[in-house]
Amino acid sequence: MKTSTRLEENCQYWVDWLHRMVDIQEGKPCDCDYCKEIKDNCECEDNCECDREYYLCENTPSWLMNRALDISFKVNRDKEYQACELCVACGGPGIYIDTDNNSINGYWGGENVRLFYMSEASRLIDDYAEELYNCL
Ligand SMILES: [Zn+2]
Ligand SMILES: [Zn+2]
Repeated sequence: MKTSTRLEENCQYWVDWLHRMVDIQEGKPCDCDYCKEIKDNCECEDNCECDREYYLCENTPSWLMNRALDISFKVNRDKEYQACELCVACGGPGIYIDTDNNSINGYWGGENVRLFYMSEASRLIDDYAEELYNCL
């Protein structure tokens, strides 16, 4: 029996991505191309205080929302934001991030995969998604 399928690996990629995003949002230095370029040109003494455009960094909720192929909002009966589901892959495998229960859900052919990630990632996505929803 196989221990890990291609679909599981694809889902695990997004679990890892979300956990890295949390680390970086909590202060770990970001090593994405955009942040690296700023760092290369940085002349700050100790801690870098160069301005960064939040949405250009590849490890932010806004980058994720921009990259998402589709976004479904879950709202309560007062139409207040509750959670969201982001489609991050379709065509081949379908992969969805669901902040309602901190899960990554993958579908491919008859195969279903569900992996869970830490709730802190959903909190960061929800903060951003709620703002977006309220602007609709
Ligand atoms: Zn700097
Ligand atoms: Zn970055």
